[in-house]
Amino acid sequence: MGAEMKDFASWGRVPASDPNRVVHLMPDGETLPSVEGPLLAYGQGRSYGDVCLNNDGTLLDTEALNRVLAFDAETGVVRCEAGVTLANLLALVVPRGWFLPVTPGTKFVSVGGAIANDVHGKNHHRDGTFGRFVRRFELWRSDGSKRVCSPDENTDLFRATMAGLGLTGLIRWAEIQLIPVQSDQINLRRERFDSLDAFFAINAEANARSRYTVAWIDTTATGSKLGRGLYIEGDHAPGSLPKPENASTPRIRIPLDAPGGLLNKATVRAFNAVYYRQQLRPVVRKQTHYEPFFYPLDALGDWNRLYGTRGFFQYQCVVPHTDGHAAIRAILDRIARSGEASFLAVLKTFGDLASPGLLSFPQPGVTLALDFPNRGARTRVLFAELDALVREAGGRLYPAKDACMSGEDFRRFYPEWETFAEHIDPAFSSSFWRRVVWERRKKR
Ligand SMILES: Cc1cc2nc3c(=O)[nH]c(=O)nc-3n(C[C@H](O)[C@H](O)[C@H](O)COP(=O)(O)OP(=O)(O)OC[C@H]3O[C@@H](n4cnc5c(N)ncnc54)[C@H](O)[C@@H]3O)c2cc1C
Repeated sequence: MGAEMKDFASWGRVPASDPNRVVHLMPDGETLPSVEGPLLAYGQGRSYGDVCLNNDGTLLDTEALNRVLAFDAETGVVRCEAGVTLANLLALVVPRGWFLPVTPGTKFVSVGGAIANDVHGKNHHRDGTFGRFVRRFELWRSDGSKRVCSPDENTDLFRATMAGLGLTGLIRWAEIQLIPVQSDQINLRRERFDSLDAFFAINAEANARSRYTVAWIDTTATGSKLGRGLYIEGDHAPGSLPKPENASTPRIRIPLDAPGGLLNKATVRAFNAVYYRQQLRPVVRKQTHYEPFFYPLDALGDWNRLYGTRGFFQYQCVVPHTDGHAAIRAILDRIARSGEASFLAVLKTFGDLASPGLLSFPQPGVTLALDFPNRGARTRVLFAELDALVREAGGRLYPAKDACMSGEDFRRFYPEWETFAEHIDPAFSSSFWRRVVWERRKKR
């Protein structure tokens, strides 16, 4: 996408993006721009809420920082500028027998964005977050310093910048350890399950045998069918490597905003029912390319526009494991009863590998992620109820997906926020940070 066509919004398009200025960073630039007002790096805008927004401030567009600086095909270590996307990296490294160590559900995110949210994927139970594979990066600060940070060098700044929501400065480049693969194929196993108890039973076995696990949940199902869905697991398959190619582009794009939103209650209910019934056999095994396995939505291009101009929210929480999993049951039940059914809901368990970032989201437990069309106050009232359930369970919400959590909840969910705040670059800020932290200072 050309820089001039970008609207510098977030993926959910709520809240609206209204920066004073956008500076397009260039690979030959040697310093941060000296402009008034707070700065914030902008990657690919694949965060849903306002962590990538800087209303009334300056966004630093990293799109042109897209060079791969070094790649060692023997060791699988790649060094690239922060604007390089995971799609670009895959196109380069898969034909040479390497794969991303961790990937979110879209490949259209930048390396800088993946670090700033310390993203997780379907292998969290086994490998933890993206940040665990970042060997080092260079951080540009507004005092003109360029700090190389790693688990052994500038350690505090490393831990603050990992999941640091872009607030500690500009990540200029990063070095990542990839994992070896023999082919671009995945051996997939998909199992239909009819209740939440069945999910947990399959999950225990699948997490022990498969590198990648995730479940899709029908959020319209209630009663004894609550939590029914499809369980998907997979591993890299043996075979041969593809020929080098250019990074793929989406096959279908959604060109215009759907008038009033195409996703209403009826279409969502129909979609969920069809999706659940697509699989007649209880278990399906097949080999598939990694793209539909990891990135089913990427084939749809700008699918966020299906929600119309009012935009939509994503809600992602994690709650600790307990006997009976009462909290996740209560959350799913509340969502099903609300009738605000979501298009796609994903359920997964996180493992207990520690994340490197002070503000990393994952913690051991069950995570649920789902979309809600923006219906204004109604949606926010529902979120307030869900937030209370998450709070009572000792869980937390994911800033990368958030537009609504209260400052009080953020500070409770992320008790290290004050230690983190000591590392914020004084010239950097975001709409998210002003919402969850600065508002409180103003009110004092
Ligand atoms: C379909 C879909 C599926 C997703 N699935 C997952 C998932 O499975 N797991 C998961 O963890 N997330 C998931 N996400 C969220 C996404 O991975 C994160 O929001 C990611 O951070 C987006 O990267 P981006 O390049 O678009 O960054 P942006 O959204 O533009 O920015 C995100 C943050 O990174 C900061 N940032 C960007 N570049 C830099 C830089 N160079 N230096 C310093 N800070 C920087 C920004 O300031 C901002 O705070 C998904 C998103 C979508 C749309």
